[in-house]
Amino acid sequence: MLKWLLTALILLTCQLPLATAAGSAPAVRHTLSFPQKNNQYVHVRSEFPVDADQTDFYLPSWNPGSYLIRDFAANLERLEATDSSGRQRQLVKIAKDQWRIETSGIETLTLEYDVWAGRLNVAESWVESSTALLNGAGLFLYTGQSRVLPQYLEFLVPADWANIHTSLAREGNGSLYFASDYDELLDSPILAGNTVEYPFKVGGQPYSLVLSQENRFWDGERSVEDVAKIVQVQQDFWGTNPFDRDYLFLNLFMDKFGGLEHDHSTVLMCSPWQMRGNKDYIKWLGLVSHEFFHAWNIRRMRPQALAEYDYQKEIYTRELWLAEGLTSYYDNLFLFRGGLIDVSDYLELLAEEIRNYETTPGREIRSAELASFDTWIKYYKPDGNKLNSTISYYRKGALIGFVTDMEIRRKTDNRASLDDVMREMYSRFGRSGSNPNGYPPGGFEEAVESIGGQDVRAIVDTMLKTTSDPDIDAALGWYGLSLERSPGLSPGENGPAGMGVGWKDSGTALVAEHVLLGYPGALAGILPGDELLAIDGFRVTPEDFALLLNKLQPGDEVELTLVRHGRLLVIPLTVGTEIPTRYVISTRKDISNREKRRLEAWLGMDLKFLD
Ligand SMILES: [Zn+2]
Repeated sequence: MLKWLLTALILLTCQLPLATAAGSAPAVRHTLSFPQKNNQYVHVRSEFPVDADQTDFYLPSWNPGSYLIRDFAANLERLEATDSSGRQRQLVKIAKDQWRIETSGIETLTLEYDVWAGRLNVAESWVESSTALLNGAGLFLYTGQSRVLPQYLEFLVPADWANIHTSLAREGNGSLYFASDYDELLDSPILAGNTVEYPFKVGGQPYSLVLSQENRFWDGERSVEDVAKIVQVQQDFWGTNPFDRDYLFLNLFMDKFGGLEHDHSTVLMCSPWQMRGNKDYIKWLGLVSHEFFHAWNIRRMRPQALAEYDYQKEIYTRELWLAEGLTSYYDNLFLFRGGLIDVSDYLELLAEEIRNYETTPGREIRSAELASFDTWIKYYKPDGNKLNSTISYYRKGALIGFVTDMEIRRKTDNRASLDDVMREMYSRFGRSGSNPNGYPPGGFEEAVESIGGQDVRAIVDTMLKTTSDPDIDAALGWYGLSLERSPGLSPGENGPAGMGVGWKDSGTALVAEHVLLGYPGALAGILPGDELLAIDGFRVTPEDFALLLNKLQPGDEVELTLVRHGRLLVIPLTVGTEIPTRYVISTRKDISNREKRRLEAWLGMDLKFLD
């Protein structure tokens, strides 16, 4: 901080503004108020120091961690600018997210505007009468000069909002907060309203689980105990505590599921009913584990391309299989290593991951690297052809992690693992490491080679750059595990009849959501979006479809009545079998003692059930 001030003083010439308030260094001062919160509006007032004849103001178009151009400027209204003598200044909009103002002869400029905060997801802002989730990317403007300036944020809280939670540093006892620059402001989401907070410490580091509006279906005490176990196992894994303040898990109960990572917090969304089903709750624990792992992997250790954000346009990287996929490999693994789930739960989650991967035809179209590069136009813009045209870098990345881990263990006779590669990467490319600007293309592969040797690197290269499948069965086999894939619900049973179409219930009809290439539906010419009305002239409703499908047999030749954009169609279809439903991983009956020890080394636990 001191170093920055000296630099700033040298750079600024005497005619430039040195202060926005008497005696203080240049800073941007934002104030948020909510006079129209019931209509989802946030009012923003920002005071900028200016140092040029003309100043351009920008609103980001995307929020780091979520690789989609969201065009936040669409929600910005009633923008006005006033100079330090109270005169209104003319604004000219010169791009969708850029405004220009003549600023000669003035030192500060105040911008005021409203933002409609009505998009509910972890990357955007949502305001309603009792709750606010505020993400800075869609709220705060910046200039070329102001990005590196300190940012103050005053929060004029409605009287009926009891609490504000953010990882921004609080100035004094009121509702004034401080960020050392614009990036930090954007990386610090705010959850306000009537919340319940569960503080806890692990290894001396303070954390908080914050729940937006507790509900009777959620046991706060139980959840915070489980979150603490996840934190403990990950702190032990990395062996470093990267936090210089409290870390916050900000959880909203909404009918959405997801999370977004930040340096000192994460925003999570789940159903209020999430804890009322064991699998659903494990899914939430996996989400917590995933987002927390990001505190290291992507927040403090990133691909070089993401070292500095350009908030106005896409940033391309081929390494999201590492940032997201390896995080997905570890999220569930830590649930087991932390004692939150048992081994059968873990193997079930792994089997589900493999099933989802193998039943996605798009894995033959895009490699893991290409899927990452194309995230802006594919992963975040899913359509009816998504499963045929790409593979999730989360999914393939997790399996690349599993196979890479095994290959390193095999090559080094279990003396090293992917865990060592991750820690090596962090020491080389982490923010406090020797090369804090992130890992270059190939950085991971080099770290793998240095620990596991050239052969393992070659395997990793192939998995990343080509569409060939990771050799999952060989990896399972090395641990004495086997994977059974069967079409029916129980072993030996025939698969149910099917068309390879994912149907969704639109409320009134069955609509084809995904039509998998190579399966009967695609061969017959069903298109995504088609509504199914009848099979062989007999009416089908969303309620009885599953039952009817059970009556069909593979090989039946039927006629489907469909509606496509208002037009009635009848098409012939030969019924096939549904995509395999049963993927089960189990220990082989003849598992050797050696394989048992490998399994224990990998899962990090004494597996008593094996003896
Ligand atoms: Zn993630």
